[in-house]
Order: sequence, then structure tokens, then C-alpha cells
Amino acid sequence: MEIAHNRAKEEQKQKKRISRSLTLIKCPHCGNDRDFLEVADNVIITTNYRQNSDGSFTQEGDESQILGEIKLYCGECNSDLSQFHSRFLEMLF
Ligand SMILES: [Zn+2]
Repeated sequence: MEIAHNRAKEEQKQKKRISRSLTLIKCPHCGNDRDFLEVADNVIITTNYRQNSDGSFTQEGDESQILGEIKLYCGECNSDLSQFHSRFLEMLF
């Protein structure tokens, strides 16, 4: 009983810690904090296909190579939010 109580307390503490460090990425121009665009420059997309005996093709895999910059934009006003890109990647699940 005591142990369970302590665990609940610990969890509460942890939750508080997380919420304190959590800051949403927010567009400084329009205040949008929901929709974002990630745009990659100079992308080479290579797709492997195997031709089957009936003439059809089956995709075996694909490989994308990004040669250029990756930018983050506000989905509402299209402002460049690349300053937040590393944080965006950290929070991407
Ligand atoms: Zn915006």
C-alpha cells in the first residue's frame, strides 16, 4: 500500500518535470502551433523494382538521399521556422 502510494507520488513528480520543460513550437508570426511543413531540397529518390515473369513489377524498396537543406515551415503562414527544426526532429515519433 505504502509502496504503491510512493510510486504514484514519483509519477506525479515526473509528470510535473515533463510539463515544465515542454514548450510547443509556435510560429512567432501567426501563433500556429499545429500544422508544420518540412521541405527537403535536392532529393534523389531511388526505387528498386523487380520484374516478374508476367511482366508486372514489384517494388523492392526505396532509398532517398537528401543532398540539400531541410527546412521547416509554418503550415499556416509559410514562415520559415527552420530555427526550430532540430527541436522538431527531437519530438518526432
Ligand atoms: Zn505562421
